[in-house]
Amino acid sequence: MKTMQDIFAAIDSAKPAMMETWRSLVDRDCGSGNKAGVDAVGQDIKAFLEPLGFKVRFHKYEQAGNMLVAEYGDMTKPFVILTGHMDTVFADGTAAERPFTVKDGRVTGPGVLDMKGGITVMLYAVKTLLEAGWDRYPLKIILAGDEEVGHGWSDAASDYRKEAKGACMAFNYETGFIDDGIVLERKGCAQYRFDFHGVGAHAGNNPEDGRSAVKELCHKALEMEALTDFAEGTTVNVGVISGGTVPNAIPENAWCRVDVRFKTMAGIERVEKAFKEITDETYIDGVTTACRCEVKMGAMERLASSEALFEKAQAVAAEAGLPAMKAIAVGGGSDSAYVTAEGVPTLCAMGVKGQYNHTVREWAEESSLTERAKLSAALLMKL
Ligand SMILES: [Zn+2]
Repeated sequence: MKTMQDIFAAIDSAKPAMMETWRSLVDRDCGSGNKAGVDAVGQDIKAFLEPLGFKVRFHKYEQAGNMLVAEYGDMTKPFVILTGHMDTVFADGTAAERPFTVKDGRVTGPGVLDMKGGITVMLYAVKTLLEAGWDRYPLKIILAGDEEVGHGWSDAASDYRKEAKGACMAFNYETGFIDDGIVLERKGCAQYRFDFHGVGAHAGNNPEDGRSAVKELCHKALEMEALTDFAEGTTVNVGVISGGTVPNAIPENAWCRVDVRFKTMAGIERVEKAFKEITDETYIDGVTTACRCEVKMGAMERLASSEALFEKAQAVAAEAGLPAMKAIAVGGGSDSAYVTAEGVPTLCAMGVKGQYNHTVREWAEESSLTERAKLSAALLMKL
């Protein structure tokens, strides 16, 4: 096995190839809604990994980009997860409109930061190590195809949890931060729609025949809001309500949309159990309630084991002469949630560094491409 300095030199000389891979990943439309585009990215990555000795398979979904799973080594032993997603938030046509561009050390293009750069970092860290004879851990690469829409049309969230079992640590190559923040904790987010159905009646002629859906909604909206528990890190916000048609009719229908933020999976489980009870109970005889989850992104829980892993990683970075990292918690979600849910210590935001993901201003720091590949290689050599 080569020394860390040899590995770093190999990464530096791979820079032109890395830039070319990064460009090819950015210059194609693969928004979450473009299944064909996302699946084509999966095929390209498969073609990259197989010659390195990975066994590649896919979890296939009808209405979402497939999830790539690539395994290297003896998977019965504790393995390292390297993860991320292949989809972007950008519509078809964006790749042609503003292709991969490098200017003054900044790289732009759709998904350049979130997270085509991170995928490139991961691929070349692994390639460099394996070509140098590294075999410290078995590896499992998991790349989702529909992260940006919270896996709303696939089983990817539960497939993630199944794939994560048995791992000893995980690195997620999501959007890196320019201040070298490494994410140990992310809030989860879920949104629900409640529909209330009652009996309409004339407000003057026969109000006693009416069953007000709005009245039912009012009782239940207060019940939902009361589920907020700041100490637990769970908030419930009834953000939009609507009901009825005219003032002189007992409203037959009403609906509301509710946003829930949570720090722990126990928090969202408590709220969902309460939502079921709220749905099943009745304040106004004759009014029925239905509840539907519209989006859900799990919480990346702050594990003590992630903190311990981070401390070791800081020491490795210092030894390798790489920038000092700091542990941070952020509001935005990632698939790290489904890895920490299985108790696997996880460091997130290991990808290229930059700003403004999900917008046309998105940019990534060119120099962070090799810097972050070196960080990953060092961690896999030393942790
Ligand atoms: Zn992302």
